[in-house]
Amino acid sequence: MEPTPKPASRGVLPVVLRGSCLCGMVRLESKMVPGAITICHCRECRKASGNPFLTFGLFHNDYIQWSVASSAGTKQLVGDLADGNGGGIKLTYYSDIAVRGWCPRCGTPLFMKYHCRPDGTSIAMGLVDNGHIVGALPPVKEHIFLADKAEWWNVPPDDGIARHDGFNEAFARRLREWSDRGRPQRLDIPPAPFHFRL
Ligand SMILES: [Zn+2]
Ligand SMILES: [Zn+2]
Repeated sequence: MEPTPKPASRGVLPVVLRGSCLCGMVRLESKMVPGAITICHCRECRKASGNPFLTFGLFHNDYIQWSVASSAGTKQLVGDLADGNGGGIKLTYYSDIAVRGWCPRCGTPLFMKYHCRPDGTSIAMGLVDNGHIVGALPPVKEHIFLADKAEWWNVPPDDGIARHDGFNEAFARRLREWSDRGRPQRLDIPPAPFHFRL
């Protein structure tokens, strides 16, 4: 399985990107800019955002840190949310393919974690705070799930971004391999109510 891209340097890296939910309860610090940016037009992303699509950046878990504020103080969470229950981030799912994270107070969509990509997090790019990026972001890589696209919104004809009806081929292959391994889940939340059809 292809590992999630991460910076080449092994030294101590500075924070190069910061993000937050609308109310500021959940904050993100990253020591890498996303390896790829994807616009997802799937039905779930449309409903979850109330918009024609969600845009995700792919980050390696080892380079991100979440923090969640509460009356008891601020809790730091490592990128893989290894304590299993989200550590104060609300977790939901629409199928067994991935979990989604939300701010439990303001409802901002935060991320998707695909079970077939245990070292990575797809973070909603709307979190990124203006003026808090050091270095260049990669150009948007692809539109996915155009087969589910909102009928009332049109992809700009000359945007130069790759287009896919569903997942791209490499990710579809990754999903099939994950399915062949028995669909292991990453976080300790109740089993998803239905299987994602591959
Ligand atoms: Zn919030
Ligand atoms: Zn989607």
